[in-house]
Amino acid sequence: MAQDRRGLLLILSSPSGAGKSTLTKMLMAWDDTMRFSVSATTRKPRPGEADGRDYFFRSREDFEAMVAAGEMLEHAEVFGNFYGTPKGPVEANMRDGRDTVFDIDWQGGQQIRNSALGRDVVSIFVLPPSIAELDRRLRSRGQDSDEVIAGRMAKSRDEISHWAEYDYVLVNEDLGDTFESLKTILTAERLRRDRQPRLSDFVRGLNAEFAAR
Ligand code: 5GP
Repeated sequence: MAQDRRGLLLILSSPSGAGKSTLTKMLMAWDDTMRFSVSATTRKPRPGEADGRDYFFRSREDFEAMVAAGEMLEHAEVFGNFYGTPKGPVEANMRDGRDTVFDIDWQGGQQIRNSALGRDVVSIFVLPPSIAELDRRLRSRGQDSDEVIAGRMAKSRDEISHWAEYDYVLVNEDLGDTFESLKTILTAERLRRDRQPRLSDFVRGLNAEFAAR
């Protein structure tokens, strides 16, 4: 066991450009017991992305076969491509008492929250400080055409409309401040009574000490 409690499922969603991927990377660097859920996708790799690390890049046929075989915890269509969370690694993390971080959209968040694993979910939505800033961040990546950016802005609006379905909402004005809040949420959630299954034994020990006085 990585720790003395059940693993939790930390779902991070946001419109693209709000800083979610950076925050996820910061979180993984801060706590190396956490595991990132590597999604499968039918979209093509971007420069610098590695198969098996950023995504499992799969053909449409392979993706559909995984879904048909019941190997996906959730799956959804985003920007005309398919994305899904392979079930096996998440189940292994939970068995090992490890926390899993998911960078998935609202559709995936909804499906996992409504699944048998729902009680282990902590969901966080990251909002940009403004739409102008979101637009600026999307353009500064310099990777996408105007048409692709316009598509992402439309998707952002749809994504943001689901903010109220999340347990926590962070407005990412300053990356450092947002990361501090993220760590605070995780620390508090890990300390919840129902995530510390051995507390009863511990308190029984305290009572035995009382009795022995
Ligand atoms: P991108 O193509 O920019 O990496 O991701 C596009 C969107 O798909 C992001 O909002 C990302 O969070 C979402 N996404 C990535 N993996 C999954 C997944 O496994 N399931 C779902 N539902 N969404 C995902």
